[in-house]
Amino acid sequence: MIEQRIKAAIRDIPDFPKPGIIFKDITPILKDHELCMAITDAFIGQLKGIRIDAVAGIESRGFLFGLTLANKLGVPFVPVRKAGKLPYAVKQKVYDLEYGTATIELHTDAFEPGSRVLIHDDLLATGGTVTAASELIQEMGGIVAGYTFVVGLSFLNGKEKIAPVSDNIIVLAE
Ligand code: IMP
Repeated sequence: MIEQRIKAAIRDIPDFPKPGIIFKDITPILKDHELCMAITDAFIGQLKGIRIDAVAGIESRGFLFGLTLANKLGVPFVPVRKAGKLPYAVKQKVYDLEYGTATIELHTDAFEPGSRVLIHDDLLATGGTVTAASELIQEMGGIVAGYTFVVGLSFLNGKEKIAPVSDNIIVLAE
């Protein structure tokens, strides 16, 4: 089963990036091309019946499967980036972190108003990042079609945070 294969591949790194945090390292997944294809196929299978006009991937690990997913769905991929990285005109969103704030940006021509945008990231923790991305997409006239994540940390209740926006939430391994 895909969930077991993902869990077996993920490496727990204690005290990264700071003491007390156990970081889920997904890089071993990327070395297994069959698992990568199985992950993409699992997303595609679970997205059947949902209209998607574009996939927005969150910097940086959301680019990995986000682009593959968009290519397989036959829709544009748009990168959601940290401030100052996108070269063209941008719209930005500032959001709160545990300590301080962060800013994400999208190109102003990322998608047409009324587009149904799927948000993809590697991992769902508190849901703060994808909530900021959802707000930015909505402020730009887009509709959040759903969310896909390879991994979810269910004890942080991220799903509850994003469920009011869209109940199309796909988490392959929790
Ligand atoms: P959230 O905003 O709290 O849901 O955090 C999710 C964001 O932080 C995603 O962009 C993840 O890539 C990143 N992240 C948080 N914890 C981890 C982890 O343990 N492994 C990989 N990425 C993580």
